[in-house]
Amino acid sequence: MGLFNKKNCAICNEKVGLLGGLKLKDGHLCKECKNKLSPFFTERKESTIEDVKKQLEYREENYKLLDKLEINKIYGEFGVILIDEKNKKFVAVRDTGGGLFSNPKKVTSIDDVKDQNPDIIDLKDVEDVEVKIIQTNREEKQTVNGQQVSYNPKHYTYMIGFNIIIKVKHPYIKEMRIDIKSGTVQIYNEGLRKQDDYIAGFVKDKLGLKRVENKAVHYDNLTIHNLVEKAMQVMPDYSYGFKCSLKNYDRIKEYAYYLALCDEIRSSLLNK
Ligand SMILES: [Zn+2]
Repeated sequence: MGLFNKKNCAICNEKVGLLGGLKLKDGHLCKECKNKLSPFFTERKESTIEDVKKQLEYREENYKLLDKLEINKIYGEFGVILIDEKNKKFVAVRDTGGGLFSNPKKVTSIDDVKDQNPDIIDLKDVEDVEVKIIQTNREEKQTVNGQQVSYNPKHYTYMIGFNIIIKVKHPYIKEMRIDIKSGTVQIYNEGLRKQDDYIAGFVKDKLGLKRVENKAVHYDNLTIHNLVEKAMQVMPDYSYGFKCSLKNYDRIKEYAYYLALCDEIRSSLLNK
Protein backbone atom coordinates (compact mmCIF):
# COMPACT_ATOMS: atom_id res chain seq x y z
CA MET A 1 0.00 0.00 0.00
CA GLY A 2 0.89 3.62 -0.54
CA LEU A 3 4.41 4.92 -0.51
CA PHE A 4 6.39 1.70 -0.80
CA ASN A 5 4.17 0.10 -3.35
CA LYS A 6 6.31 -0.16 -6.48
CA LYS A 7 4.59 0.43 -9.78
CA ASN A 8 5.18 -1.11 -13.16
CA CYS A 9 5.58 0.50 -16.55
CA ALA A 10 2.35 0.08 -18.49
CA ILE A 11 4.30 -0.69 -21.65
CA CYS A 12 7.29 -2.90 -20.81
CA ASN A 13 6.20 -3.95 -17.31
CA GLU A 14 9.56 -2.99 -15.80
CA LYS A 15 9.38 -1.70 -12.25
CA VAL A 16 9.41 2.07 -12.11
CA GLY A 17 11.08 3.80 -9.15
CA LEU A 18 9.63 4.69 -5.77
CA LEU A 19 8.38 7.94 -7.21
CA GLY A 20 6.22 6.02 -9.64
CA GLY A 21 7.89 6.96 -12.93
CA LEU A 22 6.16 9.23 -15.40
CA LYS A 23 2.43 9.64 -15.17
CA LEU A 24 -0.03 8.73 -17.86
CA LYS A 25 -3.75 9.33 -17.58
CA ASP A 26 -4.33 5.73 -16.53
CA GLY A 27 -0.91 4.33 -15.63
CA HIS A 28 2.82 4.89 -15.48
CA LEU A 29 5.66 4.93 -17.95
CA CYS A 30 9.34 4.15 -17.37
CA LYS A 31 12.06 6.48 -18.60
CA GLU A 32 13.22 4.16 -21.38
CA CYS A 33 9.73 3.88 -22.86
CA LYS A 34 9.23 7.63 -22.53
CA ASN A 35 12.40 8.21 -24.54
CA LYS A 36 10.90 6.25 -27.41
CA LEU A 37 8.06 8.75 -27.78
CA SER A 38 8.35 11.65 -30.18
CA PRO A 39 10.82 14.21 -28.78
CA PHE A 40 8.38 17.00 -29.58
CA PHE A 41 5.41 15.27 -27.91
CA THR A 42 4.13 17.30 -24.95
CA GLU A 43 0.85 15.64 -23.97
CA ARG A 44 2.05 12.61 -22.05
CA LYS A 45 0.06 13.34 -18.88
CA GLU A 46 -3.17 13.53 -20.86
CA SER A 47 -2.45 10.31 -22.76
CA THR A 48 -3.82 6.85 -22.01
CA ILE A 49 -1.83 3.61 -22.14
CA GLU A 50 -3.62 2.87 -25.40
CA ASP A 51 -2.53 6.24 -26.88
CA VAL A 52 1.09 5.55 -25.94
CA LYS A 53 0.99 2.04 -27.43
CA LYS A 54 -0.29 3.48 -30.69
CA GLN A 55 2.37 6.14 -30.74
CA LEU A 56 5.12 3.59 -30.12
CA GLU A 57 3.89 1.55 -33.08
CA TYR A 58 3.97 4.66 -35.24
CA ARG A 59 7.46 5.49 -33.96
CA GLU A 60 8.78 2.05 -34.91
CA GLU A 61 7.33 2.46 -38.38
CA ASN A 62 8.85 5.95 -38.60
CA TYR A 63 12.29 4.55 -37.80
CA LYS A 64 12.08 2.09 -40.66
CA LEU A 65 11.12 4.85 -43.09
CA LEU A 66 14.11 7.06 -42.25
CA ASP A 67 16.29 5.08 -44.67
CA LYS A 68 13.91 5.88 -47.50
CA LEU A 69 14.42 9.64 -47.21
CA GLU A 70 16.42 11.40 -49.91
CA ILE A 71 17.75 14.34 -47.93
CA ASN A 72 19.14 17.12 -50.12
CA LYS A 73 19.12 20.09 -47.72
CA ILE A 74 20.52 20.24 -44.20
CA TYR A 75 20.24 23.39 -42.10
CA GLY A 76 21.46 24.35 -38.63
CA GLU A 77 24.42 23.62 -36.44
CA PHE A 78 22.84 22.71 -33.10
CA GLY A 79 19.28 21.87 -33.78
CA VAL A 80 19.05 20.71 -37.39
CA ILE A 81 16.42 20.49 -40.09
CA LEU A 82 16.83 17.98 -42.91
CA ILE A 83 14.71 18.31 -46.02
CA ASP A 84 13.87 15.81 -48.74
CA GLU A 85 12.63 18.10 -51.50
CA LYS A 86 11.94 15.27 -53.91
CA ASN A 87 9.47 13.48 -51.65
CA LYS A 88 8.47 16.74 -49.91
CA LYS A 89 9.27 15.64 -46.40
CA PHE A 90 11.45 16.84 -43.56
CA VAL A 91 12.72 15.87 -40.14
CA ALA A 92 13.94 18.09 -37.32
CA VAL A 93 16.20 17.41 -34.35
CA ARG A 94 16.23 19.75 -31.39
CA ASP A 95 19.72 19.02 -30.12
CA THR A 96 22.32 17.11 -32.12
CA GLY A 97 24.52 16.83 -29.04
CA GLY A 98 21.76 14.81 -27.40
CA GLY A 99 21.66 16.68 -24.10
CA LEU A 100 22.96 19.34 -21.77
CA PHE A 101 26.73 20.01 -21.82
CA SER A 102 27.34 17.86 -24.88
CA ASN A 103 28.77 19.32 -28.07
CA PRO A 104 26.60 19.55 -31.15
CA LYS A 105 27.36 17.00 -33.82
CA LYS A 106 28.07 17.92 -37.43
CA VAL A 107 25.20 16.48 -39.42
CA THR A 108 25.86 15.53 -43.03
CA SER A 109 23.26 12.80 -43.56
CA ILE A 110 20.21 11.24 -41.98
CA ASP A 111 22.46 8.54 -40.47
CA ASP A 112 23.94 11.15 -38.10
CA VAL A 113 20.58 11.70 -36.39
CA LYS A 114 18.95 8.31 -36.88
CA ASP A 115 19.52 7.38 -33.24
CA GLN A 116 17.00 10.09 -32.27
CA ASN A 117 14.37 8.65 -34.62
CA PRO A 118 13.21 12.09 -35.79
CA ASP A 119 9.58 12.19 -36.92
CA ILE A 120 9.12 12.31 -40.68
CA ILE A 121 6.73 15.12 -41.56
CA ASP A 122 5.17 16.03 -44.90
CA LEU A 123 5.93 19.58 -46.04
CA LYS A 124 2.25 19.97 -46.83
CA ASP A 125 1.51 19.57 -43.10
CA VAL A 126 3.61 22.59 -42.16
CA GLU A 127 1.10 25.19 -41.03
CA ASP A 128 3.46 28.01 -40.23
CA VAL A 129 7.14 28.75 -39.69
CA GLU A 130 8.19 31.52 -37.39
CA VAL A 131 11.71 32.87 -37.12
CA LYS A 132 12.32 34.02 -33.58
CA ILE A 133 15.34 36.23 -33.02
CA ILE A 134 16.02 36.55 -29.32
CA GLN A 135 18.13 39.55 -28.37
CA THR A 136 19.45 40.66 -25.00
CA ASN A 137 22.22 43.09 -24.14
CA ARG A 138 24.49 44.13 -21.31
CA GLU A 139 26.36 47.39 -20.85
CA GLU A 140 30.16 47.32 -21.10
CA LYS A 141 32.02 49.75 -18.84
CA GLN A 142 35.55 51.09 -18.67
CA THR A 143 37.82 51.43 -15.67
CA VAL A 144 38.78 55.03 -14.89
CA ASN A 145 40.80 55.73 -11.72
CA GLY A 146 39.86 52.31 -10.39
CA GLN A 147 36.14 52.92 -10.96
CA GLN A 148 33.78 51.24 -13.39
CA VAL A 149 32.22 53.99 -15.48
CA SER A 150 30.06 54.12 -18.58
CA TYR A 151 31.37 55.08 -21.96
CA ASN A 152 29.81 58.09 -23.61
CA PRO A 153 27.75 57.08 -25.48
CA LYS A 154 27.25 53.80 -23.59
CA HIS A 155 28.71 50.59 -25.08
CA TYR A 156 26.83 47.32 -25.18
CA THR A 157 27.34 43.68 -26.01
CA TYR A 158 24.36 42.22 -27.81
CA MET A 159 23.59 38.51 -27.48
CA ILE A 160 21.40 37.11 -30.20
CA GLY A 161 19.86 33.65 -30.52
CA PHE A 162 18.08 32.15 -33.50
CA ASN A 163 15.02 29.92 -33.14
CA ILE A 164 12.81 28.39 -35.77
CA ILE A 165 9.30 27.49 -34.64
CA ILE A 166 7.56 25.07 -36.98
CA LYS A 167 3.84 24.55 -36.47
CA VAL A 168 2.63 21.28 -37.94
CA LYS A 169 -0.50 19.24 -38.47
CA HIS A 170 0.51 15.91 -36.93
CA PRO A 171 -1.11 13.39 -34.56
CA TYR A 172 1.59 13.75 -31.88
CA ILE A 173 3.31 17.06 -32.53
CA LYS A 174 1.96 20.59 -32.51
CA GLU A 175 5.07 22.65 -32.60
CA MET A 176 8.80 22.11 -33.08
CA ARG A 177 11.17 24.69 -31.70
CA ILE A 178 14.65 24.46 -33.17
CA ASP A 179 17.61 26.46 -31.91
CA ILE A 180 19.81 26.45 -34.99
CA LYS A 181 22.95 27.72 -33.29
CA SER A 182 24.64 26.53 -30.12
CA GLY A 183 24.64 29.64 -27.91
CA THR A 184 24.33 33.20 -29.18
CA VAL A 185 26.11 35.53 -31.57
CA GLN A 186 27.70 38.29 -29.47
CA ILE A 187 28.23 41.70 -31.01
CA TYR A 188 30.04 44.57 -29.33
CA ASN A 189 28.50 47.91 -30.18
CA GLU A 190 29.44 51.51 -29.45
CA GLY A 191 26.06 52.95 -28.55
CA LEU A 192 22.61 51.37 -28.67
CA ARG A 193 21.75 49.34 -31.70
CA LYS A 194 19.85 51.32 -34.30
CA GLN A 195 16.48 49.82 -35.07
CA ASP A 196 14.97 50.43 -38.44
CA ASP A 197 12.78 48.62 -40.93
CA TYR A 198 15.69 48.44 -43.27
CA ILE A 199 17.17 45.61 -41.19
CA ALA A 200 14.30 43.24 -41.79
CA GLY A 201 14.42 43.46 -45.55
CA PHE A 202 18.18 43.57 -45.76
CA VAL A 203 18.97 39.89 -46.01
CA LYS A 204 16.87 38.90 -48.96
CA ASP A 205 17.31 42.11 -50.87
CA LYS A 206 21.02 42.61 -50.41
CA LEU A 207 21.94 39.00 -50.92
CA GLY A 208 19.67 38.51 -53.87
CA LEU A 209 18.03 35.42 -52.35
CA LYS A 210 14.68 34.64 -53.88
CA ARG A 211 11.62 35.16 -51.74
CA VAL A 212 9.32 32.29 -50.89
CA GLU A 213 6.51 33.30 -53.26
CA ASN A 214 8.87 32.71 -56.15
CA LYS A 215 9.17 29.05 -55.16
CA ALA A 216 12.73 29.30 -56.30
CA VAL A 217 15.74 27.11 -55.86
CA HIS A 218 16.88 27.06 -52.29
CA TYR A 219 20.34 27.53 -50.94
CA ASP A 220 22.34 25.45 -48.50
CA ASN A 221 24.53 26.51 -45.53
CA LEU A 222 27.65 27.00 -47.65
CA THR A 223 25.97 29.02 -50.41
CA ILE A 224 24.43 31.38 -47.88
CA HIS A 225 27.80 31.74 -46.22
CA ASN A 226 29.41 32.70 -49.52
CA LEU A 227 26.65 35.17 -50.36
CA VAL A 228 26.98 36.86 -47.00
CA GLU A 229 30.75 37.05 -47.46
CA LYS A 230 30.26 38.85 -50.77
CA ALA A 231 27.53 41.21 -49.52
CA MET A 232 29.56 42.26 -46.49
CA GLN A 233 32.25 43.79 -48.65
CA VAL A 234 29.85 46.64 -49.22
CA MET A 235 28.69 46.84 -45.62
CA PRO A 236 27.33 50.30 -44.76
CA ASP A 237 28.33 52.08 -41.57
CA TYR A 238 25.30 50.79 -39.68
CA SER A 239 24.79 47.30 -41.03
CA TYR A 240 21.90 45.61 -39.29
CA GLY A 241 21.77 48.58 -36.92
CA PHE A 242 25.25 47.98 -35.52
CA LYS A 243 27.95 50.59 -35.74
CA CYS A 244 30.55 48.77 -37.77
CA SER A 245 34.19 48.74 -36.83
CA LEU A 246 37.02 46.27 -37.34
CA LYS A 247 36.27 45.02 -33.83
CA ASN A 248 32.78 43.76 -34.64
CA TYR A 249 32.93 43.18 -38.39
CA ASP A 250 33.23 39.37 -38.15
CA ARG A 251 30.44 39.13 -35.61
CA ILE A 252 28.08 41.21 -37.71
CA LYS A 253 28.90 38.92 -40.59
CA GLU A 254 28.09 35.92 -38.41
CA TYR A 255 24.80 37.56 -37.48
CA ALA A 256 24.01 38.16 -41.16
CA TYR A 257 24.73 34.52 -41.90
CA TYR A 258 22.32 33.19 -39.27
CA LEU A 259 19.66 35.68 -40.26
CA ALA A 260 19.90 34.57 -43.89
CA LEU A 261 19.93 30.94 -42.81
CA CYS A 262 16.72 31.38 -40.78
CA ASP A 263 15.02 33.05 -43.70
CA GLU A 264 16.13 30.31 -46.02
CA ILE A 265 14.87 27.57 -43.70
CA ARG A 266 11.53 29.33 -43.50
CA SER A 267 11.26 29.56 -47.28
CA SER A 268 12.27 25.93 -47.77
CA LEU A 269 9.74 24.62 -45.27
CA LEU A 270 6.95 26.70 -46.75
CA ASN A 271 7.81 25.69 -50.30
CA LYS A 272 5.27 22.90 -50.66
ZN1 LIG B 1 8.78 0.89 -19.96
